[in-house]
Amino acid sequence: MTKPRPSVVIPLVDLKAQYLSIKREIDEAISRVIMSSGFILGAEVSRFEEDFATFCRTRHAVGASSGTAALHLALLGCGVGPGDEVITTPFTFVATAESISMAGARPVFVDIEPESYNIDPTGIKRAITRRTKAIIPVHLCGRPAEMGAILGIAAEHGLKVIEDAAQAHGAEYKEQRVGGIGHVACFSFYPSKNLGAYGDAGAVVTSDDHIAATVRLLHDHGRREKYGHLVEGYSYRLDALQAAILRVKLRHLEAWNEARRKHAESYRELLGNSGLGLPVEARDSRSVYHVFVVRSKNRDGLRQQLSQRGIDTGVHYPLPLHLQPAYRRLGYRRGDFPVCEQAASEVLSLPMYPELTRAQIEEIVLAITESTV
Ligand SMILES: *Cc1c(COP(=O)(O)O)cnc(C)c1O
Repeated sequence: MTKPRPSVVIPLVDLKAQYLSIKREIDEAISRVIMSSGFILGAEVSRFEEDFATFCRTRHAVGASSGTAALHLALLGCGVGPGDEVITTPFTFVATAESISMAGARPVFVDIEPESYNIDPTGIKRAITRRTKAIIPVHLCGRPAEMGAILGIAAEHGLKVIEDAAQAHGAEYKEQRVGGIGHVACFSFYPSKNLGAYGDAGAVVTSDDHIAATVRLLHDHGRREKYGHLVEGYSYRLDALQAAILRVKLRHLEAWNEARRKHAESYRELLGNSGLGLPVEARDSRSVYHVFVVRSKNRDGLRQQLSQRGIDTGVHYPLPLHLQPAYRRLGYRRGDFPVCEQAASEVLSLPMYPELTRAQIEEIVLAITESTV
């Protein structure tokens, strides 16, 4: 007989707890936008764009309807199109690769580093061809990719670097904020991200005036005036309601990221002898722990045992992109990216959100120590 699963006691993320902690500010912002009837672009969106550019230490930010739209816009802003190749990691959310296809180009995957789960710069070098136009490193789990090496390779070959910073709002690499390191960067404000909207939202940030102008033109039907369309564009605008919500939440982001880092420290301290593989703090960068990923040879078994005790976990990601049915046409096979494939079979994401308490972390750790890892 199978035991009934308890209703979730500790969730993977808790968005309601966060809302309750800032309810007054959020409710005020939402009602302000509705009372103004200014739902599309306008001051709410411009103000958020200014605040977010300041946060990323870039000259420009352009709001977008999602992180995927932001990636598509950034690729177009870099001049990527049909016949081009763009190098990225197969260990990411599908949107990173989808956006390359949306721009008419071909995704080219290279393997990851075993410790950071981020794209391996030595693999990038080998994957460059005459058609390569850009590289999209992903700062996975909130940990910055090896940007120094990646920018060096890009400069040598005249390539654009587009940061996928969807999981890394506020992360730092050698004193630089992610988002301001490559030529252009993309953020997602999907509700569960470190900075999350109450629906779909995203942004492109850059200090390149030309990329910013192209992205701004394309994100709103290619227009500079209401019915004056310079080019065909897209309906990729950030909602004013989401902008107002994000502007409130941005003020709390630093404290929330600090809380995530403190929880990561607690996990590391309490799981030191657990037999699990733990994420290592990089010396020269500041991770913002979008997720806290451990490794286990018995990942699926451990996940089930934790679930039976009411502890919710995630797997980011169970099947690398090069093995997904959607990318069969690219011709990759199992064994092509062994580091990534092994990680996909061993990674487990533990509950991680700013409002998590020390008592909850201790409960999770106890459940792990009483399970087979
Ligand atoms: C969430 C995410 C995206 C896509 O963002 P959406 O806002 O859901 O479109 C892209 N890349 C990575 C790495 C992500 O985690």
